[in-house]
Amino acid sequence: MNRTCDKCRANIPHGNPYICVTHNIEYMNRDMTTMTDSINIVDSDEILVLCGQCGNRMTKAAMKQLLRAIPITHEAIRNN
Ligand SMILES: [Zn+2]
Repeated sequence: MNRTCDKCRANIPHGNPYICVTHNIEYMNRDMTTMTDSINIVDSDEILVLCGQCGNRMTKAAMKQLLRAIPITHEAIRNN
């Protein structure tokens, strides 16, 4: 398996850390006998892969801020 950075297109060698933003469809469960919560992932897609050098230029807080700026209400989507 080869990984390349979506920004600089550099190869990401095995053993090197990288940043991956995924889109998961998931649901929560609770085992009532043990009162243990779990999350089941139904589907997972990588939407952005960045090498360590590119990924570390953006903090987690900056990524969250960008994602939260995406309109998610029907009216907001229609207006954009
Ligand atoms: Zn890169």
